[in-house]
Amino acid sequence: MTEYTQIFKGTAFSSTSPKEVQTLKDYLFFINADGTIEKVVAPEHIDYQTLLDTYQDNENFHQLADGQYFLPGFIDLHVHAPQWAQSGTALDIPLYDWLNKYTFPIESKFSDLDFAKEVYEDLVSTLLANGTTTSLYFATVHKEASLLLAEICAKKGQRGLVGKVVMDDPEQNPDFYRDADTQTALADTEEFILAVKELAKSTKQGVYPVVTPRFIPSCTDGALKGLGELAAKYDTHVQSHCSESDWEHGYVQDRFKKNDAFALHDFGLLGDKSVMAHSNFLNDADAELFAETGTAVGHCPISNAYFANSVIPIAHLHSKGVDIGLGSDVSGGFSPSLFDNARQAVMSSRMLEDGVNTALAAEKRGVPNSRITINEAFYLATAGGGESLSLPIGRLEENYTWDAQIIDTKIASAKLPIFDKNEDLNDIFQKIMYLVRPENISEVWVQGNKVHERTK
Ligand SMILES: [Zn+2]
Repeated sequence: MTEYTQIFKGTAFSSTSPKEVQTLKDYLFFINADGTIEKVVAPEHIDYQTLLDTYQDNENFHQLADGQYFLPGFIDLHVHAPQWAQSGTALDIPLYDWLNKYTFPIESKFSDLDFAKEVYEDLVSTLLANGTTTSLYFATVHKEASLLLAEICAKKGQRGLVGKVVMDDPEQNPDFYRDADTQTALADTEEFILAVKELAKSTKQGVYPVVTPRFIPSCTDGALKGLGELAAKYDTHVQSHCSESDWEHGYVQDRFKKNDAFALHDFGLLGDKSVMAHSNFLNDADAELFAETGTAVGHCPISNAYFANSVIPIAHLHSKGVDIGLGSDVSGGFSPSLFDNARQAVMSSRMLEDGVNTALAAEKRGVPNSRITINEAFYLATAGGGESLSLPIGRLEENYTWDAQIIDTKIASAKLPIFDKNEDLNDIFQKIMYLVRPENISEVWVQGNKVHERTK
């Protein structure tokens, strides 16, 4: 009898393509010692009953109760970890004031490791409780506090990809919050990369260092070039903000006479392991460059509603072959939940398609063929995120990691409106995506380990 560390039986939902969600009714999932799904067995399979008889009395056999379902763990492609401390505040003011009066002052406080520990521990626990099993984080400019965030992810069992933020241009950044100079920014980044790679050796679910220029406006040419070289030298992930808003897009055009995508590419910052947050203003040439280089878009629909001056054409970018995942952008986006962001992704796309200005005739109001479905939003939060990061995560399939959330539709305080015992499972999936609250997430698993259990 083969030894598996965990075996699960239940009904799961997992994307097979951006538009298609497969329902795996009463499947068996066999997890190996690495925390990878070694075998998935359908009830129709000839061995199903024998396997069930063999394993169902074992201690490590988990059978879902009536009303419970598996979803893949969510993958958040854009979280500013220090901004958790100001989530939900100051969203009614312009971006410039938001950054200078609120965001930079709060981020500067993370030189204090006690404060950093308090905020980061709470954030990582909160994200896990919301079903987010992998996060791509911006930390702050501080090397030590950034490493602390990676350590907290390692300890709490979340797969964390963490960047020490680089913002070295003295003309663009406040004196109280920036790298001392370009050399220090690059040296700190290199030390940070090495420290996280060391930590990764003892972290089952993985932690990853990420080369992180805040965005082009905050960095000198020397820093951008040096960061591209570090990403190549250590084969790291890369993240930044790209073509987010009118101001930022225009700034890069003025400085380089080209769009962000081509400027970032010149510095060696685009590639298969690169994720660019927002990217609302990509034109077709930019999108083609993203597709060619394997660069992904981290779509942040809630944040975009406040700061991006636009709705990103997700359906169009998908048609161009660009990898796309979902980001909360805490705290430009107020919610740590990718359920909330998936809902907003659908709603924003519908508003882009229909348009918003009632003074215009219906046929002139919107952008045709822009809507995405809830299936596509689910894909962004799961499989699309995995492809964006080039990691085997986001699907409940063989050779993917067992990163899963158990959704309980019957919990008394947040019962879903399911009244038909034989309700169509696709309808139940849609109710889950639109109505689930954190209370409905009863367990969260990462790489075969249980990392969150709802307290009763
Ligand atoms: Zn951001």
